[in-house]
Amino acid sequence: MLRLKSKEEIARIRNAGRIVAQVLEALGQMVRPGLSTLDLDAAAESIIRRAGALPSFKGYGEPPFPGSICASIDEEVVHGIPSAQRVLREGQIISVDVGAYFEGFHADAARTFAVGTIDAAKAKLIEVTEASFWAGFAKAVVGNRMGDISAAVQATAEAHGYGVVRELTGHGIGRKLHEDPDLPNYGHVGRGMRLEAGLVLAMEPMVNLGTRNIVIREDGWTIATSDRQPSAHYENTFAITAEGPVILTAL
Ligand code: MG
Repeated sequence: MLRLKSKEEIARIRNAGRIVAQVLEALGQMVRPGLSTLDLDAAAESIIRRAGALPSFKGYGEPPFPGSICASIDEEVVHGIPSAQRVLREGQIISVDVGAYFEGFHADAARTFAVGTIDAAKAKLIEVTEASFWAGFAKAVVGNRMGDISAAVQATAEAHGYGVVRELTGHGIGRKLHEDPDLPNYGHVGRGMRLEAGLVLAMEPMVNLGTRNIVIREDGWTIATSDRQPSAHYENTFAITAEGPVILTAL
């Protein structure tokens, strides 16, 4: 069931979103060769808990997700499990996904960071993945349709020959981490539900350098590209308002 949010509820999601943004800012400063993904997880959890919030992802799903963040390196698309054994190396890219639950509401965002110096292909992939988010965001206005957002994301990524992951989508968010409706990163202009003020969405393009096809690893969580080429992820939680879309996972 789809529930539109009041201004008061949107303000509360923004409070959770500010914590998420603080975590991503801090992790972006931390990322360097030699650090493990568990180090990043510990830093994130400490910031979230010090803010009086809970990590949305910890214990989520089945098997229960063990981390406070998802940390996905290179060919890993999303849902990588933080581990002391996963030590960052120069030239890798790492996607970090963070969720915080604060005073009854969740917010969710992700960034892909360079570990030291990365090659031009990976840098372009990160840049275009972010650009695909903003292309979709620009279409998130009252009166448009969901497909207008999705098609803009897809067109931006595919214009560079990249693969857009279809099996995982963005989502509504609020009192629950994942609410209706789904927000696919591919679609058709003019199709799907009509966008209304009060809709709060987490849009999260997952863009692959090669094929769009993915596999799930034996840990039951980690999603990776089937051709082992790198993948990038960019996500924000935002609200659709009468005045236009507003990012809620910002400082
Ligand atoms: Mg999400």
